[in-house]
Amino acid sequence: MLSLNKFVACAALWGAVSNTVFSQDEGTQPTDQPLSPSPVADMVIWGGPVYTADDSNPKAEAIAIEGGIIVFVGSRQDAERYVGDDTTILSLDGAALFPGFVDGHAHLHGIGERELTLNLEGTPSISALKETVALWRANEQPAVLVGRGWIETHWPEGRFPTRWDIDAVVADIPVILARADGHAIVINSKAMELAGISGDTTAPYGGEIIKNALGEPTGMLVDAAMSLATQLIPADTQDDIDRALVTGANVYARYGWTGLHNMSVPLSRVDALERLADAGDVKIRVYNAIEPEDAPSLFESGMRQNADGRIVTRAIKLYMDGALGSRGAALLEPYADAASSGLLLTTREQTMPLLQQALGSGIQIAMHAIGDRGNRLLLDWFEEAMNDIPTIERAIAIPRWRDEHTQIVNPEDLPRYAALGVIASMQPSHAIGDLHFAPARLGDERLVGAYAWSSLIASGATVIGGSDAPVERGDPMIEFYAAVHRHDLEGFQGENWHAEEAVRREEALKMFTLWPAYASFAEDRLGSITVGKEADLTAFDRDIMTIMPTDIPKTRAIMTIVKGQIAYKAD
Ligand SMILES: [Zn+2]
Repeated sequence: MLSLNKFVACAALWGAVSNTVFSQDEGTQPTDQPLSPSPVADMVIWGGPVYTADDSNPKAEAIAIEGGIIVFVGSRQDAERYVGDDTTILSLDGAALFPGFVDGHAHLHGIGERELTLNLEGTPSISALKETVALWRANEQPAVLVGRGWIETHWPEGRFPTRWDIDAVVADIPVILARADGHAIVINSKAMELAGISGDTTAPYGGEIIKNALGEPTGMLVDAAMSLATQLIPADTQDDIDRALVTGANVYARYGWTGLHNMSVPLSRVDALERLADAGDVKIRVYNAIEPEDAPSLFESGMRQNADGRIVTRAIKLYMDGALGSRGAALLEPYADAASSGLLLTTREQTMPLLQQALGSGIQIAMHAIGDRGNRLLLDWFEEAMNDIPTIERAIAIPRWRDEHTQIVNPEDLPRYAALGVIASMQPSHAIGDLHFAPARLGDERLVGAYAWSSLIASGATVIGGSDAPVERGDPMIEFYAAVHRHDLEGFQGENWHAEEAVRREEALKMFTLWPAYASFAEDRLGSITVGKEADLTAFDRDIMTIMPTDIPKTRAIMTIVKGQIAYKAD
């Protein structure tokens, strides 16, 4: 799909190219591009549509890059003038070029870990599970075989896996396989033996050791009982952590992401990321929101970054409430399917000092909020802190604080995002997964204001798109599809799922490019294909601005460029 060739130009050819330009320009007076002297670019890209996310010049045919900076955006013909002896020419061959896609909410270490451990997502049956585990064991020599992602809901066997299933394929080392939701594991007999679990073992409070009719543990451990076995998993070494971070970054470059906003990061991992990026091992950009425990250190240091500015740390991640699936999201009224209103994970008294310090130091707050009560309190507290600290005493006037998820919002609160300048950081894939259970949890009335991307954008709020990987896959095309189509991957939407909250493609493009740049204080140098900005680019094999929505998830990244350097290129 993509041809890369050094342009073997000679003086004669260069002259011919220049002549073409001049002869075809005859009679018209070019206004914005100086004709001479012709600057020579490191790289020229053309051969497919270029979508810029820049309203002043939304579509182009070609771009030129010099020293990692975009120096030209315009017609193919004008781009010829930037071609010199050493210019690399990338022909898109019909693929489409975009500003670098950025995942506004993800967890890099978890993304890498998912690659490095056995991934059981999509396993269709117990017999398939056994085959996969046997195959993995044949190629790996782990002390403990750890896998995750199985779910038995649609299995033909119609039951949980057992230790005897696993023993049949791996009996010599402990095996621990987590269910997709992370609330249960199945282990083999070796793991049971090492963990000291027998028919007499009592499950810890909040957990269950599942037993068969004979009273024998089946190997299934639920919730708090999981720790009996997970303590067998050796703690990560620094090498393990490094490997997960580098793997995660490579996976993300392959998906087409030029960067991500990395949530809930311990400061020790920031150190690792800076070191790895300085060594050239992390090629995409990472914007870190750190754990609250490490907040004092970040307040002290202020915003920090590595040598080339690829790894930036300027935010603190906080939690307001739980999640919708487990009914932990804090609601204003009880759940429609349970006598509970969810739970808050913090208090105003705990949070307010952090907010005030953040305003004084220019550190960004990124706070998780899912339920309509959680989101309202977030807005209340943010507003209160901003009222307490006048603009002139702030490090920056508009602090660009973020509401991570913004899932269920009371319609009365929707206009407050724009009014307070609070960024809504939302994950389109959550909406197309949650559409299967959110109506039951919430009832139809509360679906007004739920996953309300379009309403928020229309109100003037900044909405950024993310995946929350590894909770979701982390594929930008699944996110883009969900944002513009609001149907699940099988094409299901359901009644009352507010189709009108799907966004226009131009808006979806900005949700993954220009707006995340704003949300990381980088819109003056990233986020659009604009002369003078850094060359962060993604090429996809199809034109996602025009193809059928159902073709969007089939689209693949063919090239990822960060600051003019190729971070990924398909064969
Ligand atoms: Zn998350």
